[in-house]
Parts: sequence; C-alpha cells; structure tokens
Amino acid sequence: MPHYHALYLSPHLDDAVLSCGGQIAQQTAAGLPVLIVTLMAGDPPARPLSAFAQKLHDRWQLDAATAVAARRAEDTAACDLLRADLQHWDIPDCIYRADPATGTALYNDGGAIFGSVHSADKQLAVELATRLAQLPTAEAIYIPLTVGHHVDHQLTRLAAELWPTNTPIFYYEDYPYAGRAGAVTAALGDPDQWQAQVIPLTAEALARKCTAIAAYQSQVSTFFSDTADLEAKVGGYATQVGGERLWQLAGRILLPISFLSRDKVRFYCKGAKMPRRKGFMVN
Ligand SMILES: [Zn+2]
Repeated sequence: MPHYHALYLSPHLDDAVLSCGGQIAQQTAAGLPVLIVTLMAGDPPARPLSAFAQKLHDRWQLDAATAVAARRAEDTAACDLLRADLQHWDIPDCIYRADPATGTALYNDGGAIFGSVHSADKQLAVELATRLAQLPTAEAIYIPLTVGHHVDHQLTRLAAELWPTNTPIFYYEDYPYAGRAGAVTAALGDPDQWQAQVIPLTAEALARKCTAIAAYQSQVSTFFSDTADLEAKVGGYATQVGGERLWQLAGRILLPISFLSRDKVRFYCKGAKMPRRKGFMVN
C-alpha cells in the first residue's frame, strides 16, 4: 500500500477541493503524493427519492439514476487536475439516507442537513472509523472543521476523531461555508483550544484550485453565478485568510462524542482496543 504525504477526508464530492485545493496543488507539484477520500460518494438507494432529494437533483440538473455517478466523474476530473489520487466510498449522501426501521428520510429539508446528526445515523460514525483504519498511511490527515455544521461533515469529523491514529490531524475550514461572517468562529467554539496555521498559496496553485472547483459542474451553480464569480469568491477568501487556513487542537481535550450511546462507545472502544471511558484523548 502506498504511503501518502497527505490524506484528505472529504465528506462530499467537492469538499476537499473547495477547501484545500490550493495546498493539494502545491504538494503534488512538489512531487508529494496526496490521497483524497470522499466518504459519502455512494449511489442513491433504489427506493424513490424524498421530495427534498428530488428538488436538489432538479437544481443540479441530474436525474436520479445517474446523479451520483456524474458527481463522481466530476470529482475524478478535479482530482486529475490536482494530480491527487482518490477513493470514492459507497456511503450515500445524507439526503438519500433513511431510517432502516421506518423507511422515512433522515434529513428532509435544508434545516435538517445543517442540524443534529439523526439518532439512526450515529452508528455510521463508528462504521466509518473502522473503515478509516484500513486506509493507506500518511504523514498527516486533513479533516473538516465542520464550519456550516452539515451532518455529513459532522460524521466525517467524528469518525476521524474516533479513529485511533497517531498521525497528526489538521482541521480544514469547510468552504464555502467558511466564507460567511462568523462561521469559522462558531465552528471553533473555544478559540483557546486551537492553533491556526496558514498555508500561503502561489498564484498558480490558486488558479489550479479554481479550475479544479469548476470541474464540479453540477455543484458550482449552487455556490457561484459563473466562473468569474467563482474566481472572485475563492480568491477573495484566500486573500482574507492569507491562503488556506488549517487548525490543530492546541492540547489534549475530551472529545465531544457524547451523542453516541454508551453501549456503542464501549463497543467501539473494545473493538479498537481503546480504553473504556466516556470519551478519549487526542493530541
Ligand atoms: Zn460537503
């Protein structure tokens, strides 16, 4: 299995590139291997789409049978532009997930996908953590800070924090949510827990990032009016923070995993040979 310089965890087919495309371009330009893993890249289930999912498909101008395959193809093109390796996992986006007990959609409107993780989804974080442990090794792991509070971003971060790895973890600012006033501050919570690190971007890397973002043709209309608007907004945020900003936990803290039931935490800790307690420590 290859050893990577950097491993980026992307909840959806675009997040890592939207948030970290410039630093990825710079790493691969320097000959350093990068892997981008998209966790929620699976096809929708065979059952009919919820009204909310259908509305999003209409906005993306994609039909149900090919929507996610088309989005995977967009991501493949973007990763090719950045010369990064990729993995697409088979977990469906939250808009497609349903309660196995009732068959009803877990997240059925715009408010729900930015709210709390549904109780029927909590086991997913544990399953994802188990799968993360099978990934190739890397010098550093980059995960979403969960700016914007999207449930799939929350699950990705939680799974990474449950993953008993010794590899340094950096939290990236989820763009475009990070461009909203106060959004990063809200995601950080207590600022004393965090240390910021800014990765300056060359003009070439920023340009390559914008080109890669434009490869997500079905998604860019949600965030940008056209290519010029994309370049202005992505470039504007890079100017605002000095490039791309990463965060690291400044010290050892108790992780906010209280939403998992005690039984599931115990099950996970036993399986992963972690100490039995309500939470556990990372650095
Ligand atoms: Zn996302």
